[in-house]
Amino acid sequence: MRISDILRVKGEQVVTVTPESTVERLVAVLGEHRIGAAVVSSDGSVVEGIVSERDVVRALAARGAAVLVEPVSAIATAQVRTVEPEARLEDVERLMTQGRFRHVPVVIDGTLRGVISIGDVVKNRIDELETERSTLTEYITGERV
Ligand code: AMP
Repeated sequence: MRISDILRVKGEQVVTVTPESTVERLVAVLGEHRIGAAVVSSDGSVVEGIVSERDVVRALAARGAAVLVEPVSAIATAQVRTVEPEARLEDVERLMTQGRFRHVPVVIDGTLRGVISIGDVVKNRIDELETERSTLTEYITGERV
């Protein structure tokens, strides 16, 4: 399965925050959209970083509540691993496992086209395995399951 197949169903909407947004604003955005990470972008298109709930927790633990008035750029990850829509689901799985992160922005020519979360990976992997299981069962037993 390709990432473009997942985005076709899921859509291309990506929640972004500007680097100057405060951490307090970021927390509100994550809560409002019920998501774990936002892409950092000044124009909503070029990826300048990524910031997740883990960054917020780490910064809170290190510097306390004062971090809430700091800009998002102070806690975000600047070196973002991205994929193109042609990437396979397994490639993203491997990237997330090796990098120990749960979000991967999808880009074409430097332009943001979507985001894949660990939830999308797990859901699509289960769907793939279910389909494979039904096909094999049908092949072996001759019965449609
Ligand atoms: P996450 O598991 O996605 O909540 O993120 C864990 C850590 O990895 C945080 O410090 C994030 O800023 C960072 N991170 C998340 N996604 C990516 C990515 N695609 N590339 C690089 N770092 C990332």
